Amino acid sequence: MLYNVIFLESCDPKITWHGSLPRKILIEPEYSVKVFIGGVPWDITEVELLASFGTYGNVTVEWPGKDCDHSKHPPKGYVYLIFNSSESVKKLLQNCSRSDDKYYQLVSSRQRKSKEVQVIPWALNDSNALRIASSRLDIDKTIFVGGLHGMLNADGLMHIMDDLFGGVVYAGIDTDQYKYPIGGSGRVIFSNRKSYIKAVNAAFVEIRTKKFKKRIQLDPYLRDAMCTQCHKAPGPYFCRDSLCWAYYCKTCWNLRHRPASLADHRAMKRTSNKTKSRPIPR
Ligand SMILES: [Zn+2]
Ligand SMILES: [Zn+2]
Repeated sequence: MLYNVIFLESCDPKITWHGSLPRKILIEPEYSVKVFIGGVPWDITEVELLASFGTYGNVTVEWPGKDCDHSKHPPKGYVYLIFNSSESVKKLLQNCSRSDDKYYQLVSSRQRKSKEVQVIPWALNDSNALRIASSRLDIDKTIFVGGLHGMLNADGLMHIMDDLFGGVVYAGIDTDQYKYPIGGSGRVIFSNRKSYIKAVNAAFVEIRTKKFKKRIQLDPYLRDAMCTQCHKAPGPYFCRDSLCWAYYCKTCWNLRHRPASLADHRAMKRTSNKTKSRPIPR
């Protein structure tokens, strides 16, 4: 089982990628049943949203804090719609006005009548990009990517990583139960170790396109491993420093990093939650 690892020692990105992302024209794409609605009036209610969007099929509305502090109105000006079927999403999009590849719909609240909101669907094809000639996908050449921008799809991620490091065979955006992007994270798999190490050593990359600017974070994807020193205990602590690049048990980590020259190495630990890397207590 693999876990996401967040390595939060922040530093300025050494690498910046400038460019424009490839535009993929999808013919009749299959969409996630979850849709983002941006720019909703601050006073809009669930009932008013359902009045606008319920005509396309069974739908529920979600927004941040709806279960606790913000039960009445969405606090951040956006909501998610979750339809029962992707046919409803198609119907909704067919009824939107379009400009510049963007979809718009009108909603009304008590204060704002006929306010235009943006409807942003997610095409399922945008979650994964696989290079056809790729042979096999290797966990030991996989990186975890964090901090992804919502406008970046798997093809875009593959394009950028390939440009910077070469040898990308797979790029994927992590998705939730509705196959909708979750948490701005993803994975990239390389065909060769050189590209993989280059990416891990970069640690951070700044992405600049005409549409957005975002700093993303690159970490090795950790696996279940035995301690590479004693081979007797599980090795949950990984040292990404090129002098070590190994999994350790706690005892072996401390032995290995006792010399002052290695004392500043930080352990990465597999975890199901986001954690900071920190020195292991001795
Ligand atoms: Zn050990
Ligand atoms: Zn080390």
